[in-house]
Amino acid sequence: MNFYDNEINKLKEKDSFRYIPDIEEKYGKYLLVDEKKMLNLSSNDYLNLSTDKELIDEFINKNKDSNEFIFSSASARLLTGTSRIYKRLEENTAKLFNKEACLLFNTGYQCNLGVVSSLVNRDDVIFSDKLNHASIIDGMKLSGCDFYRYRHLDYNHLEEMLIKHRQNYKKAIIISESVFSMDGDTADINKLIELKNKYDCLLMIDEAHAFGIFGSNLAGVSDKENNLEKVDIITATWGKAFASMGAFCVSNKTIINYLTNKADSFIFSTALPSVNVMWSNFLLEEKFNRVKEKSIKLNRLIKEAHGYINDGGKTQIIPIIIGDNHKTVKIAQQLRSMGYFVLPVRPPTVPVNTSRLRLSLSADITIEEFKTVSDTVKKALNEI
Ligand code: PLP
Repeated sequence: MNFYDNEINKLKEKDSFRYIPDIEEKYGKYLLVDEKKMLNLSSNDYLNLSTDKELIDEFINKNKDSNEFIFSSASARLLTGTSRIYKRLEENTAKLFNKEACLLFNTGYQCNLGVVSSLVNRDDVIFSDKLNHASIIDGMKLSGCDFYRYRHLDYNHLEEMLIKHRQNYKKAIIISESVFSMDGDTADINKLIELKNKYDCLLMIDEAHAFGIFGSNLAGVSDKENNLEKVDIITATWGKAFASMGAFCVSNKTIINYLTNKADSFIFSTALPSVNVMWSNFLLEEKFNRVKEKSIKLNRLIKEAHGYINDGGKTQIIPIIIGDNHKTVKIAQQLRSMGYFVLPVRPPTVPVNTSRLRLSLSADITIEEFKTVSDTVKKALNEI
């Protein structure tokens, strides 16, 4: 047996082998799997906008004759893969975040990879929350700089690291997600601002799971707490609540000009298709009220759901940590047999012994549906 078969078998023995699920169709809060309609509790389509036929029809009818209504940009932005609508989306986004400038990337992964790897080098240092997304970790590795990972949300630990290491380097960046993708908890951005000022660092916040959901501009947790201007660099993705594709970094003009010239994942990749850029602009410019309505609906559900399980949480991501891979997979299967699509999340996506069911709420899910799922998991945990 060759090396790869061996590795695959090891994953299977640990219940850690990942399959791409067989999903036949998606519509609103539902999925069709094996011809069975299931409530989708595993989606990042937090506002249920990605399959909104009314919106899509309106967009198509309005734009189908435009020269920009095409499915390829056929070039990187620095070549010919750009046009006025790309710049307009960047201007719209910068405005939303009260920042001077914005740079679009093709995905959130490429965005974090490019931003983090290009802003620092061997003379610099990064302080990163232990549970930051793989794209941030890969960016740090690629940068060649030293990096220190503080315990999740433990700002005393971060400060200890800053005291010990900050003076040994030229530039320093503190990086955190705002809403953590697998835990649904939230960074203390006020504290991070205090520390970045005290120890002369830049602060970068990834708002991937908060953009479209929190804040009066829907710009995320930094927006909700009126901290947009104090956070130096913000990244987020169009592919989750905003029901589109792509990602962006917003910051001052200098940083954005620098990234435009130095971030390889931006420079050496074909740009987003213009039809997609048009769709993002359409949602921002013409349908912002609709997006906002859905966001208000989701925030109401978030409050009711956390009230019901009384866990003190505040976001749409609700992890139920089970620990053991096998039990997690078994409960997920049981939920699926009842018509609830919940995926088990296992290492290496989450730390060893913290396998979990990650329930993600979306705007059209009802509190009654959430209560049924939550009660079922509780019962299964008692029985297993
Ligand atoms: N940042 C965080 C916190 C994420 O959870 C994700 C997940 O997808 C990304 C970035 C990557 O974004 P994208 O899916 O657009 O590549």
